[in-house]
Amino acid sequence: MGETMGYLRKNIERLAAYTPGEQPPPNSSVIKINTNENPYPPSPQVLRVLRETDWTVLRRYPDPYADKVRDAVGRLFGVTRDEVLCGNGSDELLAMVVRAVVDPGEAIAYPTPTYSLYPVLAAVQGARVIEVPSPEDFSIPVDALVESGAKLLFLCNPNAPTGVWLEPEAVAGAARRFRGVVVVDEAYADFAPASAIAAVRGLPNVLVLRTLSKSYSLAGMRLGYAVGPPDLIAGLAKVKDSYNVDAVAIEAAAAALEDQTYARANVEKVRSERARLAGALAAMGFEVIPSQTNFLLARVPCGQAQRWYERVKAAGILIRYWNQPRLSDKLRITVGSPEDNSRLLRVLEATLKEMTA
Ligand SMILES: *Cc1c(COP(=O)(O)O)cnc(C)c1O
Repeated sequence: MGETMGYLRKNIERLAAYTPGEQPPPNSSVIKINTNENPYPPSPQVLRVLRETDWTVLRRYPDPYADKVRDAVGRLFGVTRDEVLCGNGSDELLAMVVRAVVDPGEAIAYPTPTYSLYPVLAAVQGARVIEVPSPEDFSIPVDALVESGAKLLFLCNPNAPTGVWLEPEAVAGAARRFRGVVVVDEAYADFAPASAIAAVRGLPNVLVLRTLSKSYSLAGMRLGYAVGPPDLIAGLAKVKDSYNVDAVAIEAAAAALEDQTYARANVEKVRSERARLAGALAAMGFEVIPSQTNFLLARVPCGQAQRWYERVKAAGILIRYWNQPRLSDKLRITVGSPEDNSRLLRVLEATLKEMTA
């Protein structure tokens, strides 16, 4: 019907919307390890702030720049307020960058496979995409991306859904050679050896995007931030909604960022479970791509990945499967709690027995 009504812009009519991971109803007993959420609750300091704040202040608009969060980020990375901008999740910041940087018809480059939101944002803007396939080992094709001539380069680092990581110096080197803006999407950087924020500081063309959704267990709160040179940050601020981060999220995020001890301890637990899960999968014959994130991409033994996915789902565990080139023989598994991971491994063992019987 939309086609003939003609109310929508042509590129929106043609657009295939972003497909989020499946959300089971609240209170369901399903083990949800399909969207890279953190298995642990948010910091007790976050819960305390949510309990103790006088929320009658909700009648007022929030701070348009979320300075409380900008200052916490500033202390964490040794940057100033004017180098930080907050967003309603880092997804909002990604959309803001596209709006601020790319004219319709100009190009956005990224490696494939990567975060599947990037092509959607490009299509909404009417931008072209330059997709550069990663080689067999899923390493990032840095040279081809740098030479793409695009206006904007998305580098998801560590990359999703592969888990592959580029060292900060490699990111900075690529940014120095690239003529446009580089967005380093660090949604998973807390699970990796280092952030690129220090290495790219002072470069005029780099924005590093971070989120509290994964390492701080606050996916439901929607808080992300960009760190970059003041000129780019000021440009982004021009395209943002006036009050893009709500008052509750500002308080919760500031408390979460201040409690580094808690966040680091959870990241350590996830990393150690990541190693255990990867080892157990490899022992079963999965080919596991080395990951610096809180998830694993693994090729199933003896094929039929979609059947594996469905068998796991029937057992009450949600993981992720993409029927797409390069991914259709693999499963993506979020590192869950030790109990959830053990239950997944038992289901996978049973599936392997069935499939090889
Ligand atoms: C989860 C994720 C995001 C989105 O984070 P939000 O802050 O929840 O919007 C951005 N980029 C990548 C690669 C992600 O996996």
